[in-house]
Amino acid sequence: MKSVNPATGEVIKTYEAHSEKGVEKIVNSVDKCWHQWKKTSFFQRSQIMQNLATLLKSNKEELARLMALEMGKVVREGIAEIEKCAWVCDYYAANAENFLENEILVTDFSKSYVSYQPLGTILAVMPWNFPFWQVFRFAAPTLMAGNTAVLKHASNVPGCALAIEDLFREAGFPENAFRSLLIKSNQVEAVIKHRAVKGVSLTGSTPAGKSVASLAGSVLKKCVLELGGSDPYLILEDADLALAAKTCAAGRLLNAGQSCIGAKRFIVVEKIYPEFLEYFTVEMNKATFGDPCEPETTMGPLARTDLREELHRQVSGSVEMGAEVVIGGALPDRKGAYYPPTVLDNVKPGMPAYDEELFGPVASVIRVKDEKEAIHVANDTVFGLGAAVFTKNVKRGEKIAETQLQAGCCFVNDFVKSDPRLPFGGIKESGFGRELSSHGIKEFMNVKTVAVK
Ligand code: NAP
Repeated sequence: MKSVNPATGEVIKTYEAHSEKGVEKIVNSVDKCWHQWKKTSFFQRSQIMQNLATLLKSNKEELARLMALEMGKVVREGIAEIEKCAWVCDYYAANAENFLENEILVTDFSKSYVSYQPLGTILAVMPWNFPFWQVFRFAAPTLMAGNTAVLKHASNVPGCALAIEDLFREAGFPENAFRSLLIKSNQVEAVIKHRAVKGVSLTGSTPAGKSVASLAGSVLKKCVLELGGSDPYLILEDADLALAAKTCAAGRLLNAGQSCIGAKRFIVVEKIYPEFLEYFTVEMNKATFGDPCEPETTMGPLARTDLREELHRQVSGSVEMGAEVVIGGALPDRKGAYYPPTVLDNVKPGMPAYDEELFGPVASVIRVKDEKEAIHVANDTVFGLGAAVFTKNVKRGEKIAETQLQAGCCFVNDFVKSDPRLPFGGIKESGFGRELSSHGIKEFMNVKTVAVK
């Protein structure tokens, strides 16, 4: 396996992948560790989890640099990602015990209650786009709950996978409480089917989710799926346009547009359409793309050249079908997997920019007549991860967010973001199950009913 710097195309390092036998040995060790780890108290677990948070904070520059080299994230965003990982560790260290307290139920038994018991070893299959955050938002609750974990990280970030394993060990977790498997996706089936593995959490594309869900289903193991999205942003006629334009551009350009909950489709009512497009284009144009390790860079390259080609195919296909390029849309004449901030106007159903997820800094702007049509277009997608609505009438925005938009996370006057305190996940082809908050920590637990006569 190898790490390739997407800014230069250079191979940074090669790694020996784990053999079938090696995987078997690791999974068995993690399972063995679980039998001890589940007996530790919340207090013990939380002490080690807090050590992990401290370690993350003290190594944030170095870890951010590793991400920059392996997948092109700008260092400033990488540092923020590591700080967020520390936050999720501290959050579950402080709250896991409360979340998993027994729940007393009043029945005609002398005593009856629900007890949350850990299931065992959980497999995480993770993507490269937030190589630390995606793993930590799974691992912090999973380990605090008394489960152990094996990670199959994306093939282009083996350095991050091993760095995460080292951090757990260094923080004081038992040697085999958290292990990384350096394997390809075709080796995932054997891990899911391993008798010691009790559940699987996948964050990634919808096709990967379908494949993992059917494998998990074939052996009746629980899975949580955090998949793709094409988040709609509704800009209504009473929106604060300067705020909307700034927030929408920030939501589109974060991580060079490679975020599942990135702002992707901008659905704008016709009354304010030209004005919004102008403001928004100015904001999108402010990005300075270049070397992710340079402090003035706000946007790095995409993570791999094949991803850039796929994005460009979607843009060119949409343009051939009538979309208009306002800015960007052309491959830059430079080394590396760079793609410019791009705004597409006149986007219509049937175009890739309308129907598919665009995983890069490309915004699809769609004109609609009014609120009713905006809601229809917002929901006219196979995805249902996040959505946002911009209006100065907060009550109106809240009503649309709560009752009209078909998505797992709906925000008013801000871009959708994950937060340890808020449940995170999608509906439709964006997956099922929830991460974060009290909901996330219960996904891989036996919700056990105890009744005493
Ligand atoms: P991906 O190609 O689906 O890969 C994600 C992970 O799944 C990688 O570890 C990959 O391994 C593995 N994988 C791929 N196909 C598999 C299969 N058939 N069986 C088992 N494992 C498989 O996704 P990506 O390109 O890395 O990430 C981008 C996608 O993830 C986007 O669609 C994005 O929206 C989504 N995403 C969703 C969330 C969320 O929370 N909902 C968060 C971040 C990203 P290899 O690398 O070895 O192929």
